[in-house]
Amino acid sequence: MQNLLSLLPKIDNILKHKDFAHYNPVLLKQIAKEILQDIRKKILQKTIATTPRQEEIFSCIQKKYHQITTPSFQPLINATGIVLQTNLGRSIFSPSIIHKSLPLLSEYNNLEYDLIKGERGERYTHVKEIICALFECEDALVVNNNAAAVMLIINTFAKEKEVVISRGELVEIGGSFRIPEVIKQSGAKLIEVGATNKTHLKDYQNAINEETTMLLKVHQSNFSQTGFVQHVDFKEIKELAQKHNIIDYYDVGSGYIKGISCNEPSLIEIAKLSPSLVSFSGDKLLGGPQAGIIFGKTHLIEKLKKNHLLRALRIDKISLIFLQETLLAYLHNSLQEIPTIALLNQDIKEILQKAKDLLELLKNLKNFSTQIIPTTSKAGGGSLPDMIFDSYAIALQHNHKNVQSLSVKLRLQGLIARIKNNQILLDLRCINQEHFTKIQNILEDLD
Ligand SMILES: *Cc1c(COP(=O)(O)O)cnc(C)c1O
Repeated sequence: MQNLLSLLPKIDNILKHKDFAHYNPVLLKQIAKEILQDIRKKILQKTIATTPRQEEIFSCIQKKYHQITTPSFQPLINATGIVLQTNLGRSIFSPSIIHKSLPLLSEYNNLEYDLIKGERGERYTHVKEIICALFECEDALVVNNNAAAVMLIINTFAKEKEVVISRGELVEIGGSFRIPEVIKQSGAKLIEVGATNKTHLKDYQNAINEETTMLLKVHQSNFSQTGFVQHVDFKEIKELAQKHNIIDYYDVGSGYIKGISCNEPSLIEIAKLSPSLVSFSGDKLLGGPQAGIIFGKTHLIEKLKKNHLLRALRIDKISLIFLQETLLAYLHNSLQEIPTIALLNQDIKEILQKAKDLLELLKNLKNFSTQIIPTTSKAGGGSLPDMIFDSYAIALQHNHKNVQSLSVKLRLQGLIARIKNNQILLDLRCINQEHFTKIQNILEDLD
C-alpha cells in the first residue's frame, strides 16, 4: 500500500509541470491537493487497487480547474411559457435598451455628480422626474429591490411602532421572503387584522391607536383567493389613514404601468388615489432591471433619504442606467422596447405560426414524435396569479427515452422545458426565431 501511495505525483512537481505553466498556482495547489487526498483515501480504504496514471490525475486536475475558472452564467432558452421566472433571471432586455445602456459602463459618468454646480449630486435624480411624470406624483426614490423598499419604508416610519396589515396579505413571495418577517426585521410591531379570507374596513379602524403609524396593503402576489372572500380596497385604506393622520403604504409587488390588459388596476390608477407611499419591483411586469421603485409624498420620501439604511440598500449604477432607459421607454410609449410586455401581449396567431415554423425544422427527427398542442402560459414572478395566457407548445415524446431523463438532458444543453402528461412541452411564448436552430441541433443530438 505504501508502495501505491509513493507512486502518486508530488505536489511540488505538479506545480512546476509545464502542463500547468499558465495556471494560477494557488488554485492549482488547492485542486491538486484535494484530488491527491481523495486518491490516497481510496487507496487506504482499498476501493482502488492501483495508483491512477499521471495522465489521468492531470486530466482530473485540468477538468476541475476548467470548471472553476469558466464563467458559470449561460444563456438559456425559456420554453416553460412562464415569462417572469425568478430562477431564470426574471425580465430580459431588448437590444435597443442594451445598446443605449452599455457604452456608459466603459466610461466614467455623472452617477452622483451635478455638472452645472460642479459638486456632488444625487443618483436618484436620474429617474425621479421620469417616475413623477409617469405617475403624476410628488417625489420618488429607487433602491436595490422591492424587498429593500419595504424594509426601508417600515424601518423609517414604523420602528418600534405599529403597522396594521390584513391577515389575508401576510404573503410569502418565494425564496423564503415573507412580509411579516421583513416587517419584524425592520423593527416594527405587526398588527394583524381580519381573517385569512375576510378583512373589513372596521378591522383596520379598530386596530388604530396612538402607536399606529401606518396602514399597509400588500399585493397577494403569487396567489389569489376565491369564494367567501373580502378585502378592503386601497382607496378606503388610504382614506382611513388620512382621517387618522397616519401613513398609507401599498406594496404593489409586481405592478404594471401600461401595455397589459388584465384585471388589476395599473400603477397609474393607484397613483391617482394620491397615496402616501407605493413601492413595486423593477424586474417583474415593469420589465426592467432588479430595483425597488418608491413613489409618493415628498415629505415622506425626504425622510426615507435621511435613513442611514438607504446606503446599504442603494441601487447600483448598472441597474440605474437600465432602469432609466426602461422608464424612458414607458414615457415615450415605446413599449416594443420592453420584451416582458411584448412576450405577454403576443398574438395567439403569431405563437401558432412560430410553433409551425419550428415543427417544420423538426420533421426529420426519427425517434421523437412531435405535435403542436394548445397550452397556457403564465406571467410568473408573483404577477397576475389569476391570468392565463393562451399559447401553443410543441409536445415531444421519444421512442425509448423517458421524459424525465430527456428533460435533464435538454436542461444541460440550455433548453428549459415543462413536462405535462408524460410529454415534454416547448411553449413557444418565450421562444423566437433565433432559438430555432439551437433547439433543432439539441433535439437532433438526442434523436
Ligand atoms: C415580489 C414582491 C416583493 C419583493 O420584490 P423584489 O423586487 O423581488 O425584492 C415584495 N412584495 C410583493 C408583494 C411582491 O410581489
